Amino acid sequence: MSSEKTEALIIRLADWSESSRVVTFFSRDFGKLSAVAKGAKRIKGPFEAAIDLLAVCRIVFIRKSSSGLDILTEAKLQQRFKPNGRNLMSLYGGYYVAELLASFTEEYDPNPELYDVAVLTLNSLTEEPDHKITLLKFELALLRETGHLPLFDGCLACGIPAEAGNTRFGFWVSQGGLICHECQKKEFQPQPEIQPGTLAVLRRLSSENGGALKNLQLSDQQYLEMRRIVTAAIRHVLGRPSKMSRYLQL
Ligand SMILES: [Zn+2]
Repeated sequence: MSSEKTEALIIRLADWSESSRVVTFFSRDFGKLSAVAKGAKRIKGPFEAAIDLLAVCRIVFIRKSSSGLDILTEAKLQQRFKPNGRNLMSLYGGYYVAELLASFTEEYDPNPELYDVAVLTLNSLTEEPDHKITLLKFELALLRETGHLPLFDGCLACGIPAEAGNTRFGFWVSQGGLICHECQKKEFQPQPEIQPGTLAVLRRLSSENGGALKNLQLSDQQYLEMRRIVTAAIRHVLGRPSKMSRYLQL
């Protein structure tokens, strides 16, 4: 057993006993981990007010060598998630981020880039009035960082490149990429057509690192197309619709 330190975001809380909880963190240095926080339910407990969903904490924990839960020994609150009180979507957006992180990440598989994006996303949800673009950027970063971003280079069936712009493409969710108009006819896979402008944005997102997301500017049509693709891609990875997505007006 060894003692470890890291910064971490609380993504799930569950009762463990009358006074203790199991806290699931998405940590910067270790990825996802679950630890028992003894006494966390007591008002004057050892962790004070740090144990709160979506709070960012500095934590110290004892890592179990075999299977079993880690033990939380310290948690210092760095930042609490304060959703915008006038906008319920800000709160639901935070829950959605927690749900996706819990589902898409593996225990002890660190991803500091994704951790930083998650913390920035929570800040944006509290500060910015438009949760839609904030969450779309997060979802794209999540798909990319976890290796689930679909391929937007060209048709997966015949290989015709998307860049040439001489044919139309749909999104082929089960294969994680594009299918051209001709192949859709052969495979009986009719898909809504994606506008070339949307396709260009998607290609840029998959070829560059995080920079392209910062200045993401989308028309209403492009937003709707990207939303459809991203929702389908996430649903495909989860094997079901996200629980929070039905509450979010995306
Ligand atoms: Zn094709």
